[in-house]
Amino acid sequence: MNKAYDAIIIGGGVSGLIAAKELEAYHLNTLLIDSEPQAGGRLKTDRLDGFQLDHGFQVLLSAYPMVKKHLDLSQLECEAFESGAYCFDTKKGFEVLDVKRNPAAYLKMAFSPIGSFGDKLKVAKLRREVLHKTEEEIYNEPDTSTLSFLQQYGFSDKIIDRFFKPFFGGIFLEHQLETSSRQFQYIFKMFAQGEALLPKKGIAAIAEQLKGQLQRTEFRFNSKVKSILGQAVQLEDGTEFQAKQIIIAGDPSAIMPQYQSDVSWNSTLQLYFSGPKGPLCRKKIGLSFSKDGLISNVACLSQVQPSYGNGQSELYQVSLREELKASEQEMVEKIKRELQLIVGNGLRDWKFLRSYHVRHSLPRLSNLAYERPFEESRLADGIYIAGDHLLNPSLNAAMLSGELAAKALILNHQNK
Ligand SMILES: Cc1cc2nc3c(=O)[nH]c(=O)nc-3n(C[C@H](O)[C@H](O)[C@H](O)COP(=O)(O)OP(=O)(O)OC[C@H]3O[C@@H](n4cnc5c(N)ncnc54)[C@H](O)[C@@H]3O)c2cc1C
Repeated sequence: MNKAYDAIIIGGGVSGLIAAKELEAYHLNTLLIDSEPQAGGRLKTDRLDGFQLDHGFQVLLSAYPMVKKHLDLSQLECEAFESGAYCFDTKKGFEVLDVKRNPAAYLKMAFSPIGSFGDKLKVAKLRREVLHKTEEEIYNEPDTSTLSFLQQYGFSDKIIDRFFKPFFGGIFLEHQLETSSRQFQYIFKMFAQGEALLPKKGIAAIAEQLKGQLQRTEFRFNSKVKSILGQAVQLEDGTEFQAKQIIIAGDPSAIMPQYQSDVSWNSTLQLYFSGPKGPLCRKKIGLSFSKDGLISNVACLSQVQPSYGNGQSELYQVSLREELKASEQEMVEKIKRELQLIVGNGLRDWKFLRSYHVRHSLPRLSNLAYERPFEESRLADGIYIAGDHLLNPSLNAAMLSGELAAKALILNHQNK
């Protein structure tokens, strides 16, 4: 029989790591268990031929309150995307500039083909509005789809198709903009308030930094939890650990079948290419508005954060609008044919590196919230729950949910 811990955390994603940080600050003797070989959960970075490949296109938004609280951005040595975008279809491409950060671009943007003049005034109005609202106000608003919200706001189909669908479709990982308008307004506010960053060592560096903040927490990786029986946490290999209290930092349904969650997931399909400089090699995100295209967005990550490149070629990530029922080779050929129309002959030197199909990317939720009372983290006696699926699909929510679960556990510990 193993020793009894004050707390066991099941799941070493961002929510579990933040929970561990809070428990450690309270001097609780904690074990964190994860089925994977490392911490980070959905934050993963591979290295291949000198390139750095994140699993799915992810950015770190500097304006997230929880990022400001828990991360040392200077230590992550982040580089920022230029705000705005490069929008393209099969025939043309043009830049969209953020006039708030680049006032000299006012005239150019007034004539930009991204949308009507009225659309541009509405973007400015929406920006002002979301900046004046608190997070709580945004998440208390009526819940409608992002698409309905934009239509009701009076945006034209043109700007919705050319900008909002590829930009926010790439963030929500669904192109129809069915995601809640609350999330849309919140993310819009975060982009207006801060920057989209890439850490020097890839997106997984966020989790590495959080893990590095933990001094006394014990870790057990490559260990899948099978069930919880009373105060015992049982692994698939039969090992058992005892804990006074437990946090499940993820979906509890596989571990405690009596708590079936009804969360479904948005997935993402992403391809990496190496290649030379060219029309898509920019510090801005590239958005495809091609009507029949498969591509949602393209980003030349090595232009933004040079450590993503191998020093000789650029690294391009290409995210698709939806899953493709095709072999990897067929998929690469289709995407290359589409890219050829904008990159031209330079595409000859593009080399496919790897694809990532992340099935469980973002929880598809109804009734999204920014926060909730910490008592609601209690799942059963001595068992608490954390994870972005409890609030909204974001790193901020994952971190906040970890704090809330830890707070509930600590309070119960004090009262015992
Ligand atoms: C492609 C992609 C793009 C994204 N883009 C952004 C973005 O740009 N901005 C943003 O804010 N957010 C983004 N996100 C979302 C963000 O990554 C998540 O909100 C966050 O990482 C979730 O953390 P979590 O701790 O809630 O869950 P997870 O990271 O899923 O962690 C759960 C952990 O629990 C472990 N686990 C599960 N079951 C068991 C078990 N039985 N036994 C042991 N361990 C178990 C898993 O191995 C995992 O490590 C993106 C996510 C993806 C995948």
